[in-house]
Amino acid sequence: MLDIAIIGAGPAGLATALRLHQQGFRPRLYEAVPEIKPLGVGVDIKPYAVKELTELGLYEAFCAISVEAHESIFYTGHGQQIFAENCGRHMGYDHDQRFVHRGQLQMMLYNAVQARLGEEAITLGCRCSRFEQDEFGVTVWFDNSLNSAAPTQIRADVVIGVDGIRSVVRSHLLPESVRTHFSGLTLYRGVTVMPPFKTGGSILHIGDPIRQGTLIVYPIQNNVDGQGNQLVNWVIEQNEKPQSEEDWNQHTGVKEIEHVFDDCKLDFLDVSQMIASARECYLFPLIDHDPLPAWSFGRITLLGDAAHAMYPRGGNSVCQAFVDARVIAEKLAAISDPVEALKAYELERREKVNWLVLASRGEGPEVVRRIVEERSGGKPFEDIETIFPYEEALSIFSEYHAKAGMKIPTEHASAGARKYKSVFTTSN
Ligand SMILES: Cc1cc2nc3c(=O)[nH]c(=O)nc-3n(C[C@H](O)[C@H](O)[C@H](O)COP(=O)(O)OP(=O)(O)OC[C@H]3O[C@@H](n4cnc5c(N)ncnc54)[C@H](O)[C@@H]3O)c2cc1C
Repeated sequence: MLDIAIIGAGPAGLATALRLHQQGFRPRLYEAVPEIKPLGVGVDIKPYAVKELTELGLYEAFCAISVEAHESIFYTGHGQQIFAENCGRHMGYDHDQRFVHRGQLQMMLYNAVQARLGEEAITLGCRCSRFEQDEFGVTVWFDNSLNSAAPTQIRADVVIGVDGIRSVVRSHLLPESVRTHFSGLTLYRGVTVMPPFKTGGSILHIGDPIRQGTLIVYPIQNNVDGQGNQLVNWVIEQNEKPQSEEDWNQHTGVKEIEHVFDDCKLDFLDVSQMIASARECYLFPLIDHDPLPAWSFGRITLLGDAAHAMYPRGGNSVCQAFVDARVIAEKLAAISDPVEALKAYELERREKVNWLVLASRGEGPEVVRRIVEERSGGKPFEDIETIFPYEEALSIFSEYHAKAGMKIPTEHASAGARKYKSVFTTSN
């Protein structure tokens, strides 16, 4: 049996270990941090990724820590509705769409790996520093200064680099990829404990990207305080700020952004109040990597953010990693030569994901807010249909969903149309 080493125990590395285990492998994981803690804020798990978690036998555990998405609604900076569509099963897909705290998702996968592969499958405090491969395998060197019990060197038949956006594995394979691409936008990523709004599973996309910036809001945990309140995730994109550090754990206050959305009048949510009462807020530059020209190099390959760090706008980063995890496990199980198997994995995945990296850079479906802003001159409108016809909006969403692997079921496109028309008002 192939001896497979996974570098990095983020959501992608852990899901890869579980998929490989399903195919009969016993992979080992090597993680830089000495303790896995539930870090981060919200992530949006699309139906195609819920399918992957379901196939891993984790659907019930996942439901227990996440919130089902019901609807996705786009608003101008004044709070006027532009477009609405259902989510997940409500749209006719075979699986839910769900929102979750990134750290809770990682902990769920971590617990599953420990239960199925044994605690010894994961070595913590073990940072990969370099590797060398020959015809028969790969030697990996680690900095174990945070865990003296961890090895300084291992040998494996195959190495999968799943070490995130600042991947050491990628930087050795593709030194020219070290520099990240900065969008010019800074993300304020916050969470607030508050009563549920609308369906209790609504994602809101608010703001005009030219005048105000963008605000995305969605709940990530139900009954977080035993009193029926939800933990609500929000992300604000702001431009004209210098690039902040590429550190997911960089805390910040909300003073600078508290009043940015004061003009946004929604009858179900006080946006400024939500921001002002944040439980915590982090700063992160909106960065990605240019699409990579290759992922697999002999017995070594890349997966997850290491292979395709993308803007989180379309909510696809972690979702695509779960698909990578299935495909690489299938190829390694089906093709006896590991070099050929890694090539086949790359062939099936890289081009599709590279398209998403670029599409996310180009605003993805969030572009509808810019279109309305430009056509309305940033002023409240009387009738959205005259400036942004429904059919035009639907074609943008349909194309994006299809390319992200989530073609909208035909009969539900028209259900979306009725919903859209019935909810259209000039006030919100
Ligand atoms: C602390 C943290 C918080 C995050 N918060 C958010 C968030 O709020 N919202 C969001 O959309 N995305 C967030 N992300 C990114 C998100 O997790 C990824 O986009 C997505 O889940 C894909 O996961 P990944 O496993 O490929 O990468 P990551 O989640 O980045 O995981 C990579 C793992 O590799 C480990 N690692 C790094 N270098 C080495 C090395 N040299 N040797 C061994 N191990 C190494 C890291 O410690 C980490 O555990 C966060 C990432 C991190 C690390």
